[in-house]
Amino acid sequence: MDLDVRGPKIVGLKLVIEGFIYVRSKAGQNGKLHWACQRLRKGKCSARAGTVQSGENITIIKGPDESKHSHPAAPDEAKAEIIKLNLKRTAEEHPELPPTQIMRTQLAGMSAGVPSKLPERPNVNKALRKHRRREMPSNPQSLNEIETIPERFQKTMDREEFLIYDSHEDENFDQRFGRVIVFGTRRNLELLAKSDTWSIDGSFGFAPGIFTQIFTILGFVNKARRYENDAETIAFPFVFSLLFETALTAVTSGATEYGIRDCRP
Ligand SMILES: [Zn+2]
Repeated sequence: MDLDVRGPKIVGLKLVIEGFIYVRSKAGQNGKLHWACQRLRKGKCSARAGTVQSGENITIIKGPDESKHSHPAAPDEAKAEIIKLNLKRTAEEHPELPPTQIMRTQLAGMSAGVPSKLPERPNVNKALRKHRRREMPSNPQSLNEIETIPERFQKTMDREEFLIYDSHEDENFDQRFGRVIVFGTRRNLELLAKSDTWSIDGSFGFAPGIFTQIFTILGFVNKARRYENDAETIAFPFVFSLLFETALTAVTSGATEYGIRDCRP
């Protein structure tokens, strides 16, 4: 993947045409925008540009041909501008992706000169996290704050259903057990059903604030074989649940009911 910097492309308050970067100076009437070369402020170049935008279409009414720059185009810098905007957008659209992964995807296949035009990586990461915190709701302080789980947290990155069960939506749920939220995909459940042995695990350390446990159900799956007779089974977590310790007694008694022995979380 490489970016097209011939443009015209408007990124935030900047305009890219043929590797030249302009900063918006003023907005006129009927979608007309006026731009000045971004080196203007340093007194180095007085090139200007004008565009008219209608929907997705940007028409150049004055470009580098009409208003000459005093310096060569800087395609790598132009690409960096576009990448910075893409990073921000991806962070907004995919709040679940770690910043490092977003960086990796956006920079994949870029020519070597581009990353050097971006701010230092840790800074970009920091900027992404800051931007994301603005977009993400803050962690709830009490259970009463959480009502129905927001739609976007009910699905995986591939938009697959991820929420299996929420006691908040279950009229028959015994309130003494507190809130129980269970996550997993359909495929996860299918694989778990195929596993002869299940493992259950409760970890306290990672549970977010108001819950006391992350309770996981692990099944056994065959690892991909690199060569024949290389059969290896590994335990894999398929179902995740946020709950309170009190709910674990329900897990134990439920297991007994189904004739599952040795279930002691
Ligand atoms: Zn210029």
